[in-house]
Amino acid sequence: MDTTPTPERWSLEDLFGGPQSPEFKKALEELDRRAAKLQELRDELKPGLPAERFLQIVRQVEELSDLMHRVYAAAGLWFYEDTQNPEAQALLARVRQKSAEIENQTLFFELWFKDLPDEEAERLIQAAGERYRYWLEQMRAWKPYTLSEGEEKIVNLKNTTGRSALDTLYDTITSRYQFTLEVDGETKTLTRGELMVYARDSRPEVREAAFRELYRVYAGDAPVLAQIYQNIVSDWKNEYLEVRGFKSAIAVRNKMNDLPDAVVETLLAVSRQNAPLFQRYFRLKARVLGMERLRRYDIYAPVTEAEKRYDYAEARRMVDEAFAAFDPRFAELAARVFERGHVDAEVRQGKSGGAFCWTPAPGTVPWVLLNYQGRPDDVSTMAHELGHAVHGMLAGEHPVFTFHAPMPLAETASTFAEMLLVDYLLENEPDAGVRRQVLFDQMDGNYATILRQAYFALFEIETHKMIPAGATADELKAAYRRNLEEQFAGAVEVSDEFDWEWISIPHIYGTPFYVYAYAFGQLLVLALYKRYREEGEAFKPRLFRILEAGGSAAPAELLAREGFDITTADFWQGGFDVIAELLEKLEAESGA
Ligand SMILES: [Zn+2]
Repeated sequence: MDTTPTPERWSLEDLFGGPQSPEFKKALEELDRRAAKLQELRDELKPGLPAERFLQIVRQVEELSDLMHRVYAAAGLWFYEDTQNPEAQALLARVRQKSAEIENQTLFFELWFKDLPDEEAERLIQAAGERYRYWLEQMRAWKPYTLSEGEEKIVNLKNTTGRSALDTLYDTITSRYQFTLEVDGETKTLTRGELMVYARDSRPEVREAAFRELYRVYAGDAPVLAQIYQNIVSDWKNEYLEVRGFKSAIAVRNKMNDLPDAVVETLLAVSRQNAPLFQRYFRLKARVLGMERLRRYDIYAPVTEAEKRYDYAEARRMVDEAFAAFDPRFAELAARVFERGHVDAEVRQGKSGGAFCWTPAPGTVPWVLLNYQGRPDDVSTMAHELGHAVHGMLAGEHPVFTFHAPMPLAETASTFAEMLLVDYLLENEPDAGVRRQVLFDQMDGNYATILRQAYFALFEIETHKMIPAGATADELKAAYRRNLEEQFAGAVEVSDEFDWEWISIPHIYGTPFYVYAYAFGQLLVLALYKRYREEGEAFKPRLFRILEAGGSAAPAELLAREGFDITTADFWQGGFDVIAELLEKLEAESGA
């Protein structure tokens, strides 16, 4: 393994030799050729279509879609490495347009298949085999919400300059934000990622200043950002509720996730019931920090003075060893991502903030974007994103339609990977202060991933009702304040600038109701990890089966096969019980 001491930059060469290569141009042309070829088959789609012919057509659709995904990834990754690069912006816009065109040219297949009588569809599903079953069944599941071909074409085209463009605009505006912070008498200009490092500073006044600066900048654009949000929400309602006939805004995401509405309602209700668990934690944390009451600025405050830093090579080694301790296969897959030069870890102005993993298509080695700054947190993020990468590679046997895990399961490998790193640190870190910090970080992380996200989802449920009823930005802000009050119930002092927190959350813009998948995933993994500790080796094949399945079956079914029943409140409470145990441990150790 190569030991790069400083964060590296990725190479996009594995995708057609990069977005500026002649091969990439050829791939764009190839897309048109294949789409045209598929068009020619249109007349063959008639009752009694031979099973064999159907399978051939399915394969052509698959090849086209596969290529489209790779092209999209090349343009998308290029944009995210420098969102201010005009060439990358233009290419991404062009590829989006192309993607919409191709979707339109091939829509007839989907529409025809959706329209078939049940018996005929079942005959063809049988013919296509297990590999395509869930994809084909899912297509038909959207039948009640599908419009005519002409209408679907208009929606696709309009989305590129509509909801999708609004989301890009939001990204473009917020990616260029610069934050200024005075630290130790020096004024620094920072990206959001760099600024938020100070939200975890050991000095209370620095944490406060960081949050104030974050929301000062966002609130400066509040009228614009709120308006973008209002339009996205209205668009969601117009398309999905008015035109397609969904009963509620969240039902759209549930349908996309193939989760029954009742499962998500139970998840959110159980999360709400467990808010006092975290309030208890915040009271403990206040005592540990020697404060009367925790302020919202202090939620992620360190509990020890230890300002441990890990250089990049060290982080890579730790993640590798943590994965290997679980299973060598897990570690080997993660190592492949580094070996291919698919990791962009350095912090640069204009580069997308945060972190993500992008698996372009089945059989490709994923790309991982990080903003690595050496904190323990950055090491967990590395483990997290590599967990995604492992998941993507494990599911690589499925066609492009079903190799991606659906959202509720998308965080399974990533969160599991983070827990592997925690166990590794608890075992190998010599400094007791650091180990104690690791346990507190676990609680902080559970808060950030479960309760915080569940309350974002509750907020979205509200805004998606309020905005169509004409709510103003100030009314949304007031609703967010009520949300915070319920979540913290006085255990934490929340100052006014947090009323604008919601306009700083990209997910509620780009992917409405995505956030509950985090709570889902984390609680699920807590339950899985508990089983791993209880069962050891016997558990591993069950986890690998869940990951290898990708998105080839409904989440509830896929988990039921391995013995997890997500329809019950008990299942979700089980996740919170693991958190309660951790809290009791911390309370006992802290003499509370
Ligand atoms: Zn993730």
